[in-house]
Amino acid sequence: MKKLYADVVVVAAGPSGLAAAITSAENGKKTIVFEKMNTAGGAANMGMGLLGIDTHVQKRTFDEITVEEALDIHMNYTHFRVDAELVQAYFSLSADTILWLEEMGVEFAGAYRYFRESAATWHIVKPENGVIGPRAASSMIKAMTNRATDLGVDIYYETPATDLIFEDNRVCGVTAISAAGEKIEAHCKAVCVCTGGFGNNPEMIKEEFGLIQGQDFFSIQVPGVDGDGLRMMWKVGAQKYGLNVEVIQMVTLPEELRTLSIAMFQPNLLINQLGDRFMNEEYMNNGTFLGNAIGLQPGRYAYVLFDGGIIRHYKRNGVDCVSLVHPDSRLDGFDSAAEQALKAGEDAFFVADTVEELAEKLGINCEKLEDTLEEYNDMCACGVDSKFFKKSKYLRPITGKGKYYAGKLYLGAYGTLGGVRINKRCEVLDSEHKSIPGLYSAGTDANTIYGDSYNFMLPGNTMGFAVNSGRLAGFAMSDYIDSLDE
Ligand SMILES: Cc1cc2nc3c(=O)[nH]c(=O)nc-3n(C[C@H](O)[C@H](O)[C@H](O)COP(=O)(O)OP(=O)(O)OC[C@H]3O[C@@H](n4cnc5c(N)ncnc54)[C@H](O)[C@@H]3O)c2cc1C
Repeated sequence: MKKLYADVVVVAAGPSGLAAAITSAENGKKTIVFEKMNTAGGAANMGMGLLGIDTHVQKRTFDEITVEEALDIHMNYTHFRVDAELVQAYFSLSADTILWLEEMGVEFAGAYRYFRESAATWHIVKPENGVIGPRAASSMIKAMTNRATDLGVDIYYETPATDLIFEDNRVCGVTAISAAGEKIEAHCKAVCVCTGGFGNNPEMIKEEFGLIQGQDFFSIQVPGVDGDGLRMMWKVGAQKYGLNVEVIQMVTLPEELRTLSIAMFQPNLLINQLGDRFMNEEYMNNGTFLGNAIGLQPGRYAYVLFDGGIIRHYKRNGVDCVSLVHPDSRLDGFDSAAEQALKAGEDAFFVADTVEELAEKLGINCEKLEDTLEEYNDMCACGVDSKFFKKSKYLRPITGKGKYYAGKLYLGAYGTLGGVRINKRCEVLDSEHKSIPGLYSAGTDANTIYGDSYNFMLPGNTMGFAVNSGRLAGFAMSDYIDSLDE
């Protein structure tokens, strides 16, 4: 058994854990981090950027949004069912956090919207290869890891924390197992748990939400994110609170058929297995809204229908909805990708010459599908969606010109959200809302600020919460330790 001593132990080196560790080290506290994997960053290595409110980056492009405006948008969006003090503390710190990251060498490509109606809060990290897209934020993780190391933070990789040490009614350490299998006991004055939720733990997801990974639910599974920290915190009396899923839509086609996915994310006719249209498709670009709507359909999936005429239009004029996550949204390779999908027997993409054939392939009653298509095409012909009021510019008839196409969209997720209740200082609360001395949590484990649905209107929100709550925890732990020493 190896014994270590520090002021602060941070469990995990994702963005929230790194922010907590850097902040406590900047405040003169000896800090240790245990990270389960052989690298830092967790889910953030796959992401692009974080929320900032009222930042100098936004001011450069006249995209300012004040804390007052953002708080108003967020609290209205969540119907005031979330901790306004915590949200206010997070938003208020976020502009300084962008400067703080820049000081450690992070460069931002700019502040972006996720889609037209959202605010430009998504501070996308300048990618190493210059092309904005997935994984851009990994260079932020590198800069944060370097900063932590420069400050003398000891990061132990491949060293999963196993439990919290709880004595005299306070958390005063962490047990862990080293890469070599040696047991470690780390004693300290404050612990911050930042293990990123349980998006990689299908059993826990089934138990908490009744969703079955790979069947009616397709979460992105980030290795290591198995709910360890939540289990440790619940064990010492943390309030189990606000568990949720950060839903999105998911396409199960392989990456090389991305052209098909781009076509499938356009606001064409969406139907369920019963052949019913179920939402205004112009909201499809908001992954939260689309995921929520898909989650309500039989089997928790949907089909998006389009045809060769629509594809031809997109090839000539560009697609209706572009996304920074898929920067290359041209459909030049659509036909060969469609052929490849058919040859490979992909079960999430369908091609048919007639409505009958399409109905058969989708297993939908043919008359019902004909009715739905007829009703939709009539609305396209007169340019008015009298059912869900989709904008007329998106009303494109589906007549089978150059074949009918259908793509299957499943309920997916970036992972889970929440699990313990914290206050604005990131102190973990027990079932009586009292803080558990010495215990702090940040990032996804403690992210209960969206109510029932992630807020894409202020994009960059989960990574933003991770980094800013990590900093808030770092400040609070330092104050707590100073108060113990007084
Ligand atoms: C594909 C993808 C793209 C995304 N893009 C964005 C984006 O652009 N903007 C945005 O705001 N959000 C984005 N997100 C979400 C964002 O990445 C997360 O909200 C953020 O990374 C959460 O940070 P975290 O520190 O709480 O947890 P994580 O980043 O999940 O890190 C958790 C860490 O805990 C470690 N760990 C787990 N158990 C233990 C243990 N027992 N001991 C020690 N360590 C442990 C894990 O190995 C991991 O390193 C994206 C997510 C995904 C999956």
